[in-house]
Amino acid sequence: MNLFSFFILLKYRILACDWKALTILKGINSANSQFFCLWCYCQKSQICDFSIPSWDIKRSSKDQAHELRNGSRRGYIKSDLLPFIDYKNIVPDDLHLRIRISLKLFNQIVTWAIDQKNEERLEVEMKRIGVSFHFWEEQGDDKSNASVKKWSQPSGDDLKFIITKTQLRNIIDDRQDRHLVNVASLSVVQLRDELRNMGLDCKGKKAELVSRLEQTLGRGVKVRAKARSRLQVNFQFHDCDDDKDNRPTLDVDGLQELWIEFDDLMEALRALPQTEKYMESNEFHLKAKAWASKFRKLTFDEDVTPYIHTMVYHVPYFLKRFGFIHDIGVSQVERKNYDHRQAYFGSTNRSGGKVKKKVSLQILQRENRMLYIAREKLLREKRSYKKVSHVIPYSQWIDRISN
Ligand SMILES: [Zn+2]
Repeated sequence: MNLFSFFILLKYRILACDWKALTILKGINSANSQFFCLWCYCQKSQICDFSIPSWDIKRSSKDQAHELRNGSRRGYIKSDLLPFIDYKNIVPDDLHLRIRISLKLFNQIVTWAIDQKNEERLEVEMKRIGVSFHFWEEQGDDKSNASVKKWSQPSGDDLKFIITKTQLRNIIDDRQDRHLVNVASLSVVQLRDELRNMGLDCKGKKAELVSRLEQTLGRGVKVRAKARSRLQVNFQFHDCDDDKDNRPTLDVDGLQELWIEFDDLMEALRALPQTEKYMESNEFHLKAKAWASKFRKLTFDEDVTPYIHTMVYHVPYFLKRFGFIHDIGVSQVERKNYDHRQAYFGSTNRSGGKVKKKVSLQILQRENRMLYIAREKLLREKRSYKKVSHVIPYSQWIDRISN
C-alpha cells in the first residue's frame, strides 16, 4: 500500500496496489486459495480453462457481509477495511502484472536450463545482454541434507531486458531432458524407494527389483530421476516408447514467440490510445486469451497464476472503462521507493556520523536540491581537489602524547 494509492482512493475512490496488499485491505483470502480472485468467483480448478468466454466482476461488499454472516465464505475471510471502495474500482496494477508473469517465464527457462545441464549457457547469455545473474548452492533443511540450487531473481528493469533481448536458443534445446533414464539404470536404493512408494514388495536383488517395477509400469517406460531444482515438475514416470523417444519436449521457437507476444501485450498497456502499440479492450482480451492458451500448451498448467487470469479476464474491463490504465498504477511510487532506497544506501550517513540528522530528512533534502537544480537548469561546477594527508608525522605524534 502506498501514498499514491490513497491519493487516488480519496479523490475518485479507486484503489490500485499489489495483490497481497489488496487481499489484506479487502479481507479476501490469499492468491493460492480456492477462491483466489479479487474480482470474480473463479475457482482454482477453473483457472486454466480459457475457453470460458468471460468472468464478470461479481464480488461486492453486500456479498461479503452476507458470506461472512453465513460462513460459506467464497474467499471472504475478514470484513472489508475499505467498504466505500467498490470491487469494480480496484484496478489491476500493470507493473506487478508484468513483473510477476515475466518472473514466471524466466524461472521456467532457468528450470529447463538446469534440467538440460545448461546452467553455464544461461549465465553466458545473461552476461551477453548485460544482466547480472548467478547460481549458488545451499544446504537443504531436510534429512537427506541434499544441496539445493538457487539463483538470483532479477529486478523489474532487468526482467524487461531479459524478456525482450534473450535468445532462448542460446540457453535451451528442444531435446528431451537428460533426467529421463531407463528403470534398469536406477540404483538399488532408488528402486526400493519406488517399489515401496507403490506399495509393492521391495526385497530382493537388483534384477528382481527391476523386473518387478517393469512389470507394474510396463516395458519401455522411462523414469525421471529426481532433480534437485526448486521448480522441478512433479511427475516421475513417462510413457516413452521408442517412436516417441526422440520427440522434442520443448518448443524453443514457440517459447520465444510467447515471450515476444507477452511483451507486446504489456507494451499495449503502457501505450497511449491512438498510438501504434495500443490495443482496444476487445483486441486485448482476445490476444491475451490466445496467449494464455499458448502458454498452457507450451509450458505447464500449474504455472497458470492468478495474474494471468487477471490479464485475460479483468484487465480488458478496466481498459474499456478508462482507456488507459498505466497511470492508475503504482509504478511511479515504486520508482520513488527505489530511488529513495538507493539514496539511503548511497547518499545518507544511515543514522551514523557526527551530525545526527534524520535519514528521511536527508533523503528529502537531497531530492529537493536535485529538483531545484533540474528546474533552474544549473550546471555543477567542479570543485578543486586538495589531497589531505591523515597520517600524522612521528614528531607531532610524540608531541601530542607527551603533552
Ligand atoms: Zn477473476
